[in-house]
Amino acid sequence: MNVHEYQAKELLAKFGVGIPAGIAALTVEEAVAAAKQLPGPLYVVKAQIHAGGRGKGKFKELPADAKGGVRLAKSIEEVEAFAKEMLGNTLVTVQTGEAGKQVNRLYITDGVDIAKEYYLSMVVDRASSRVAMIVSTEGGMDIEEVAHSTPEKIATITIDPAEGFMPHHGRAVGYALKLTGDLNKQAGKIAEQLYNAFVALDCDMLEINPLVETKDGNLLVLDTKMSFDSNSLYRHPDVMALRDETEEDPAEIEASKYDLAYIKLDGNIGCMVNGAGLAMATMDIIKLNGEFPANFLDVGGGATTEKVTAAFKIILKDPAVKGILVNIFGGIMKCDIIADGIVAAAKEVNLSVPLVVRLEGTNVQQGKDILANSGLPIVPANDLGDAARKIVAEVRKVA
Ligand code: GDP
Ligand code: MG
Repeated sequence: MNVHEYQAKELLAKFGVGIPAGIAALTVEEAVAAAKQLPGPLYVVKAQIHAGGRGKGKFKELPADAKGGVRLAKSIEEVEAFAKEMLGNTLVTVQTGEAGKQVNRLYITDGVDIAKEYYLSMVVDRASSRVAMIVSTEGGMDIEEVAHSTPEKIATITIDPAEGFMPHHGRAVGYALKLTGDLNKQAGKIAEQLYNAFVALDCDMLEINPLVETKDGNLLVLDTKMSFDSNSLYRHPDVMALRDETEEDPAEIEASKYDLAYIKLDGNIGCMVNGAGLAMATMDIIKLNGEFPANFLDVGGGATTEKVTAAFKIILKDPAVKGILVNIFGGIMKCDIIADGIVAAAKEVNLSVPLVVRLEGTNVQQGKDILANSGLPIVPANDLGDAARKIVAEVRKVA
């Protein structure tokens, strides 16, 4: 789960991390009121969407030469004008895709006099089973580009969570950022505070870009992106309350209501599978046969008729879907029960695309008989390879 910049900064501030003063606003009036509470004379009006690259982004509704979603305002009047330009309009950045995202919230912050911009992020590094802290002197810009053309400017420091953050980690951060004296000390301290926040909040990613050195010699978090391990949200109700569903894919929200693990992908074959491993294998074998999956969908162990119906509806809402492959292993749930569910669901949703079903496991013959006698144009398959070849052939017939 992701949160907005202002929410992430408010969470970080609780760990002592320095942030510029700021207030979130939903309307132009709130933006003006927020600016009046800030010291001025420089303000920043920042579009709050779950995507980066806002500064260099473009608003669909504004002329091509208009500025993006992070604007420096020199007066309350400018704050008002920029808020009017941004709210309700669609911001397209390198991370939003062409459709862009509608700006419904703003963050009005105190403008900072920047001396230098740095980069710092943290991720869970599976290879080393540690937290990897990635730091660079090249902040504010596209870090992927830095990694590509000048990888020597990026340093990675790994922290063993059992040992925790040690003073030497802090010194390594200060050294990598080429900081000396008090700024070096501040770098170690802010890195430790950020690490503490990362672990305590069960983040899976925390990116500070830029971390800035102000002209008066302080290190502040100027921009941040934070995402949380969804499996840990049950123990962070305060974080869960920050969820903004308008930023999420409606199909994925619908799927989560039925406890279905659904992720939209770019292909044309809808997949309904039980078990994440089988779902991955199914996606692979579709690709091996020359087509692409339209989604990842794990209906889980207890695939009830209700769940299967909800899954069909979600898959069929995607206009890219030209055929569906159901690949279910009847272990906990027997194949005849699953077949009943598929038939009932297919009838209810008025299936409009070819459907290939591969069942295996307990009571498989009864299951196959139910599908064969259903009167529905279901194409039966005997194994995974057969199923993939058949669905690929079906969608190519339609195309
Ligand atoms: P992003 O474009 O979504 O990454 O948004 P950021 O919050 O990182 O802002 C983009 C850029 O705007 C930063 O890298 C800064 O150069 C600039 N910027 C943002 N806030 C301030 C500020 O308070 N003062 C100044 N001078 N520049 C700022
Ligand atoms: Mg940024």
